[in-house]
Amino acid sequence: MLINPPSYVLSVLQQLERAGYQAYVVGGCVRDSLMGMRPEDWDVCSDATPEQMLALFERRRVIPTGLKHGTITVRSQGHNVEVTTFRIDGAYSDNRHPDQVSFVAKLEEDLSRRDFTINAMAYNPRRGLVDVFGGEKDLENHTIRCVGKPDVRFHEDGLRILRALRFASRFSFDIEKETEDSIRRNRQLLSNISAERIFKELQGILLARDATRILTAFPEIFVTILPETQATQSPKEWMDRTCDIAQAPENSFPMRLTLLLRNLTPPQARSVLSRLRSDNKTRHYVVTMLEELSKPLPTTRGEMRKLIGHIGLDEARALLCIQAILTPGKNVLEANRLLKEALAAPPAYTLRHLRIDGQKLLALGATSGPILGEILQRLLNEVQEEVLTNEKDALLRRAKELLALHAKTVPSTDSSPNLGCVCKSR
Ligand code: ATP
Ligand code: MG
Repeated sequence: MLINPPSYVLSVLQQLERAGYQAYVVGGCVRDSLMGMRPEDWDVCSDATPEQMLALFERRRVIPTGLKHGTITVRSQGHNVEVTTFRIDGAYSDNRHPDQVSFVAKLEEDLSRRDFTINAMAYNPRRGLVDVFGGEKDLENHTIRCVGKPDVRFHEDGLRILRALRFASRFSFDIEKETEDSIRRNRQLLSNISAERIFKELQGILLARDATRILTAFPEIFVTILPETQATQSPKEWMDRTCDIAQAPENSFPMRLTLLLRNLTPPQARSVLSRLRSDNKTRHYVVTMLEELSKPLPTTRGEMRKLIGHIGLDEARALLCIQAILTPGKNVLEANRLLKEALAAPPAYTLRHLRIDGQKLLALGATSGPILGEILQRLLNEVQEEVLTNEKDALLRRAKELLALHAKTVPSTDSSPNLGCVCKSR
């Protein structure tokens, strides 16, 4: 059998069964096992109520994860196992959260509340596979199909629309016709879903191997969650954009998101990502990339070092990767060569890399104030442009010259720096 729950899961199943309860592994772990993949986590379901489970597992560490929904987390051999009481969901008045859940005695009822047939199978070593909705066949046929009537199921929970696209994208599955038509028809239900959940599903879709196919096939869904992208969107432009996404590495969500949002200005992208409650790191990455994409690429090693100092080395690499996708050609090849050369030399990207600091300038007789930063920045620029070596003696000599120049041009009472335009930054 393809389904082999590890011993820490079997131990929870056995303890429940010995006490006279039913117990099954269920959902994603059964699906993944049947596909020959290793499940990330194993969910267990049982007819034991949360109170009965708390009593049964009293010798184990138990976390009451979601008692109201019937879920507890049991520690077993150093692992967490979520165990949920068989349940059906009550009415959904907000298209997202059941108004109440009811615990039920039969596994089949619990399976009927699950979203897609491939996610609605359970397994127990003695009883074998329980598959009342044809999930195994749909797995074989690479099909995502709602359990029950799609319109009803999407009205209960609009997030299932994005879950369907995520599973289709992750496994390269097709969406069964009735389910697909219902997804398109009911897309407005997504407006009831919280931004955090939408963002998380979008991440799952973009990271999956078949993201491009799904983005291309369901433009209206993505316009519903990202209406800001619509303004400049022609079908051809959308197609180009989704094809570009396939060229970005599979594990790079921020890069794929940048490509998806690339027709927005940086402030527009910032506001879209704030609305979607993106984490700060991703938002900063996308906005930085869009800002840099609007500027010419570095054409000298000095400019390349400034770019790295400004946005960071990984980000500079990512920027070149994005540029190579968007505008492949001589300029990107040249920029990659400059990056390689800059990396082959000792780093000179930020003031941290300069072999002298403000203290050394003070020791030379400089007065404290903005002039210190100005001189250090100028020294860094000259090192970056390779007109000055990053060695202490050379830097001190040049610093003395700059201080003398400053003393000549600035009356002694005026401490404002006057070194000309010394801080050329991107
Ligand atoms: P993943 O590998 O992405 O975690 P999964 O199938 O385990 O996939 P989860 O979100 O962890 O997905 O949910 C576990 C199970 O709970 C699903 O397999 C499905 O049976 C059920 N489920 C989860 N979310 C929903 C939902 N919104 N509507 C109906 N059933 C759901
Ligand atoms: Mg899961």
